[in-house]
Amino acid sequence: MPTPKFRTSSSKRNMRRSHHHLTPAGMSVCTNCGQVKKPHSVCEACGHHKGKAVLPAKQSASNSEFSAES
Ligand SMILES: [Zn+2]
Repeated sequence: MPTPKFRTSSSKRNMRRSHHHLTPAGMSVCTNCGQVKKPHSVCEACGHHKGKAVLPAKQSASNSEFSAES
């Protein structure tokens, strides 16, 4: 197995790693409620997709349950 002849300098190493970053996820806006959502997916806030209601809208019941405990 061949071995490198020279040690990679920190400059060259860092230049190589300059591409090792994450890109922000693409986001789209819901046409029904205007909430930011993932593209090609049902809106989590209102349950609409492509202008149709496919899921029941999310209630704030979970928040009230949370406050009832404390
Ligand atoms: Zn929505």
